[in-house]
Amino acid sequence: MSASDASGGVTLSSFSPLPWQHSLWQHFTQVHDSGRLPHAVMLSGPAGLGKHELADAMIARVLCRTVLGKPGAAACGECHGCHMLAAGHHPDLMAIAPQDVGKMIRIDPIREVNRFVSQTAQQGGYRVIRLQPAESMNIASANALLKSLEEPGAKTLFILLSDMPSRVLPTVRSRCQQWPLVIPQSHESLPWLQEQLGDDAQALLRMAGGLPQLAVRLGVSEQRQLRQALRELFDALVRGGEPVAEAWRLERQPLAQVLWYGIAWLEDLIRMGLSGNAGHLRDPSLEPLLRQAVKNGRTQDWFKLLDFAREQRRLLAAGGNPNPQLVLEAWLVRWSALLRS
Ligand SMILES: [Zn+2]
Repeated sequence: MSASDASGGVTLSSFSPLPWQHSLWQHFTQVHDSGRLPHAVMLSGPAGLGKHELADAMIARVLCRTVLGKPGAAACGECHGCHMLAAGHHPDLMAIAPQDVGKMIRIDPIREVNRFVSQTAQQGGYRVIRLQPAESMNIASANALLKSLEEPGAKTLFILLSDMPSRVLPTVRSRCQQWPLVIPQSHESLPWLQEQLGDDAQALLRMAGGLPQLAVRLGVSEQRQLRQALRELFDALVRGGEPVAEAWRLERQPLAQVLWYGIAWLEDLIRMGLSGNAGHLRDPSLEPLLRQAVKNGRTQDWFKLLDFAREQRRLLAAGGNPNPQLVLEAWLVRWSALLRS
């Protein structure tokens, strides 16, 4: 998605918020109905809380022509504004995102944002700009955006999304009202999740650390296969298998996903090593494997392995392009050394 989307081509993920976003949604409809919308809102929180759905439901409500003054209601879906949104062509909506996942938001699309907010809305209502992820703006882009954030003009709403608000330029952050999303209680998300995942909902929600949309992503068959491959691999390592020889099991698996599981398992392993109990495990079926690992390695060494995995993930997220096979092998060699020590 790029700035060329200004004239259309923005498809919204949802017109309604998700069930666990109820209180934030109520707050939003209240300030919207009373004409007290801020110029800029930053929705933040870890990936998997449904920030996109909430942002898109907010956008739809602001651009809907009939919903104003109906407390708690979502966009009607019937009016001209809603029809334009559903068709992916609303002239008063602009969506900005990096052209490729993991890349930066360059300055050119931000210049288009500045032009966009300097014009009046074509439909006579709000102009809305959705920008995500906000931490993907480089210094030049962020500075260029400041101009519009400082003097946005009437009836302009910026919605910025961020998984990592601490990485957003402080001057940008301070000009946005902060709306952090928090991990919901399981009773807030489980009924919805059971509709998506059936009987596996509870186990997957636990594995996802309470992040409902992440639980959905962990439920797809590719993820099940990856977990199975990882489990077999670690089992082989625990039995003394040669790490480089065993790495074939993860061939063509995305490194970011492999690291995500590795980090989650290591965190669980370390907590179990320190506390001695397994009640917190995100995947209780791994307990025998993790117990064996705890027996074999020293906790301080597991911390080092965790640091290594986190650093590789950080490099990957920063758009660095490490050789995935080499990263994987280096990591497995470290695992294996720990298991044999
Ligand atoms: Zn409508």
